[in-house]
Amino acid sequence: METVLRIAVQSKGRLSEKTQDLLKQCGLDLNSGGAQLMIKASNFPLEVLFLRDDDIPGYVSSGVADIGVVGENVADEKGYKVETVHRLGFAKCRLSIAIPRRFEYTGTEYLEGKRIATSYPRILGNYLKEKGVNAAVSEISGSVEIAPAIELADAVCDIVSTGSTLIANGLKEVEAFYKSEAILIATPGLNGGKKEILEKLLFRIKACQKAKKAKYIVLNAPNNKIDEISSMLPGMKSPTVTPLAIEGWSSMSSVINEDEFWDICEKLHDAGAEGVLVMPIEKMIY
Ligand code: ATP
Ligand code: MG
Repeated sequence: METVLRIAVQSKGRLSEKTQDLLKQCGLDLNSGGAQLMIKASNFPLEVLFLRDDDIPGYVSSGVADIGVVGENVADEKGYKVETVHRLGFAKCRLSIAIPRRFEYTGTEYLEGKRIATSYPRILGNYLKEKGVNAAVSEISGSVEIAPAIELADAVCDIVSTGSTLIANGLKEVEAFYKSEAILIATPGLNGGKKEILEKLLFRIKACQKAKKAKYIVLNAPNNKIDEISSMLPGMKSPTVTPLAIEGWSSMSSVINEDEFWDICEKLHDAGAEGVLVMPIEKMIY
């Protein structure tokens, strides 16, 4: 029987679209019939299981799924034994403590003896312990931000990305103590065949991640500036230089990091580069 790796992903929510995009970028042909809870890639030994994110760490820990994509916050909160294989760089958020805006926050000692509502009792509990704060943590599964307004709690601990939900509920963020992003987790001690498939998938994931940050740049340069411009373009090895039909000019191409692009761009212009084109890269393998 063919060995197949089973991946658990969120069916609907903040992780689902990016996770499915990533699998598609990895070249996996996943013809989902829409309502299907499990589909098999037609061109790769991978089976995709669609679940609520809360269930993913448990399924991966027990081996029902071999790997899974989940927020680090959920993996940590559940506390199951799983292996973190790779950080995926999307669904970035933080866990923060917030209090009603009208109160003055004096530091973690402010939380002593207070009631804090959260969906993350374990992560919050660890943090409070580390800070030596005794507080009454109550677990609620959603709409945490309204807890102070209905006098269910004095403070909340919840996921924040922009902070607008807190503001809308009259709260202010006072401690941002935990950072999260989507991670790829695996059942500890995955066996030979499955491990091999995971390695193949990881190779593709890394190639896609590298490509996302890199841009392909092409420009025209006067021949006497090739050395100067080369030093500005680190590239994968060194820039490619091809003569143009016009005497004294060359076309140069290379790969640059998106973060450095605008910086480099100015310098290129100053050095006499012309007709600069920047293009996305789909995959990058080296
Ligand atoms: P499910 O129905 O599957 O249980 P959920 O409602 O628990 O879904 P989502 O809101 O879809 O979960 O969030 C999934 C994960 O995305 C969170 O655990 C967190 O890691 C991350 N996340 C949550 N909110 C944000 C946000 N505002 N910005 C970025 N990432 C976020
Ligand atoms: Mg959930």
